[in-house]
Amino acid sequence: MNVPFLNLKDAYIELKDELDAAYQRVMESGWYILGREVEVFEAEFAAFCGVRHCIGVGNGLEALHLILRAMNIGPGDEVIVPSNTYIATWLAVSYAGAVPVPVEPDERTYNIDPGRIKAAITLRTKAIIAVHLYGQPADMDPVNVIAWKHGLSVIEDAAQAHGARYRGKRTGSLGHAAGFSFYPAKNLGAAGDAGAVTTDDDKLAERVKLLRNYGSGVKYQNTCKGFNSRLDELQAAVLQVKLKALDEWNVRRRGLAKSYIEGLCDTGLTLPNAPEWLEPSLHLFVVSHAERDELQQHLEKEGVGTMIHYPVPPHMQEAYRDLGIRKGSLPISEQMAGKVLSLPMGPHLSDEQLLKTISVAREFFNKK
Ligand SMILES: *Cc1c(COP(=O)(O)O)cnc(C)c1O
Repeated sequence: MNVPFLNLKDAYIELKDELDAAYQRVMESGWYILGREVEVFEAEFAAFCGVRHCIGVGNGLEALHLILRAMNIGPGDEVIVPSNTYIATWLAVSYAGAVPVPVEPDERTYNIDPGRIKAAITLRTKAIIAVHLYGQPADMDPVNVIAWKHGLSVIEDAAQAHGARYRGKRTGSLGHAAGFSFYPAKNLGAAGDAGAVTTDDDKLAERVKLLRNYGSGVKYQNTCKGFNSRLDELQAAVLQVKLKALDEWNVRRRGLAKSYIEGLCDTGLTLPNAPEWLEPSLHLFVVSHAERDELQQHLEKEGVGTMIHYPVPPHMQEAYRDLGIRKGSLPISEQMAGKVLSLPMGPHLSDEQLLKTISVAREFFNKK
């Protein structure tokens, strides 16, 4: 039995009847972009997150970009970002014309360390983007306090944390605005690219709505220079169906994580350890070990698929050479990149696949 790192087809099989009916409904409607399906999904996802507004957009990167634009963040401004995130968080800032300023994570949570944010704030700082990495909500209370003291906006990158909770509140409701991705592999995934912005701010929501559609609220009346980042009806219809399954799927992910932790706690691997007041979405189950590469090869050889999130931090990418951030200057994220390993995780991972992954990993440590 092989254990694929990810299996997206099983979600389709589970919901086949409803999904098939959803796209048939859209195809037969003759209306394909920004229509009734998008409106229904936006209302449902806003209610799910516990916020007043959800605006469907083209993808997760655009969600973050449009939030920054709507906040009038641009050239000459700085935005604080985690040093160990997926590069999209940084790219959104660059798209807007601002400069991403990295802050190192807390090694235990992989999330931005609130204690390090103050030192990164300058007169040009306008916002902090907190990423709920791997599905574990960032420590938002101290982030919001620092932001409030310095007059900064707080943006959540919730692309990996649909349905997660921080002190009882859903991600998407923990800052001024949040960007979600519905890339197929995320906890709530479309059948293609899709994203959304959530916020309680009426004005910001209105601005994002204009910006996603050429700066136009009324056809052929353009009040600002907008973009084309619209959500299409097929994706919105698929997302309506999958949203109904999301909480149950996240419960399954948390159950699998608990079994992983029980099965691997005596191996020497560093395991995820969310405090009780967090309800992570377990987008990824990430372990860490100095002999990561050897462990990955062993798992691979035995038919267990794994991935590394992420092998190269953004500041060491060719794309960000212009920032001139030298190797060695962000040691925590650089070391993490050499040690982290994502084990198979998803609502359709079977108990047998989980047990095989645990036993193959244990074998690696027993041999030594
Ligand atoms: C997936 C992801 C994004 C980008 O989402 P896309 O829909 O692929 O543009 C942004 N941030 C994080 C943390 C992500 O995981």
